[in-house]
Amino acid sequence: MEKVQTDRREFVKFSTLGILGLALGGGMVFSPYLVGKENRLRPPGAVSEDKFLALCIKCGQCLQVCPYHSIKLADFAKGIGVGTPYIDANERGCWACDAVPCVLACPSGALDHHCEKPQDIKMGIAVLEFPNTCLAISNTLIPKGYNDKMHNFVNSVRNKTEQEDVILKKLDEFEGKECTLCADMCPIPNPLSAIAMIADSGGGKRPEVYDGCIGCGACQEVCPTTQPSIVVKPRVMYNEFYNKA
Ligand code: SF4
Ligand code: SF4
Ligand code: SF4
Repeated sequence: MEKVQTDRREFVKFSTLGILGLALGGGMVFSPYLVGKENRLRPPGAVSEDKFLALCIKCGQCLQVCPYHSIKLADFAKGIGVGTPYIDANERGCWACDAVPCVLACPSGALDHHCEKPQDIKMGIAVLEFPNTCLAISNTLIPKGYNDKMHNFVNSVRNKTEQEDVILKKLDEFEGKECTLCADMCPIPNPLSAIAMIADSGGGKRPEVYDGCIGCGACQEVCPTTQPSIVVKPRVMYNEFYNKA
């Protein structure tokens, strides 16, 4: 009898472990947290994603020197690469600082020090993903309170900077006007090489992206539509997306 009970206990123990093992094993294989490699917007100068993940020591130096609070560290919900820096352009794009301090601060080579000025940055490419919602195309004026999101963001940070105040003041001037935000707020030294408002066949205007775009995501941040109409495709280059030689 004792033997039977022991066997049953062993059976229950091992079958439970087996089921747990299978569940965990399946989880490890199928978990989106572990395999769902999200294509994230990395800070300026980031080397190829595989190398970046190998080189980044998750020290957070890049985000500490960013005067716009553009860089975050990925948490578990973001999948693999926990603790690595990324930019969520829906909240805060990169504002293309002159000397690219985030790159200078990186001690590991994950951000390539050859990236020395805004024109060297190649984070991705801007795309008018949702033309149907673009205010310029539909000739809709920029609504009041569109900039609350940016004000709230800056108010939420501990050490608001002068640079952030400058952006907010500029943004405040757009309320109630025709929307040219993505083109007018493009932060690179020669914004017309990246984006311009052109006539649209429907009578309004539309933003057109050019090869000078560095994929900083500032346009995505300031686009006043609920889901930004213009977005950055991380790590995609102009020629690849627009199919131009
Ligand atoms: S270039 Fe400037 S704004 Fe952009 S991530 Fe680096 S430090 Fe931040
Ligand atoms: S910011 Fe640009 S993409 Fe967004 S609504 Fe205005 S014109 Fe359209
Ligand atoms: S068009 Fe947008 S993503 Fe491209 S450089 Fe200008 S603000 Fe940055």
